Amino acid sequence: MKWYMRKCIRCGRYTLREDKCPYCGGELVIPHPPKFSPQDKYIKYRYELKKEKKLI
Ligand SMILES: [Zn+2]
Repeated sequence: MKWYMRKCIRCGRYTLREDKCPYCGGELVIPHPPKFSPQDKYIKYRYELKKEKKLI
């Protein structure tokens, strides 16, 4: 699946347009959801810790 959506850096809305935001005329960026993020791993690790603490 290709990601055609663009995100406005001014209002944060998503659009299919490529030049500018149809809502506020702001600049558009292509949001790239990271496939592998060490931060996500860290969050999961913290979540696991929380879960363990609750069990104890
Ligand atoms: Zn906008």
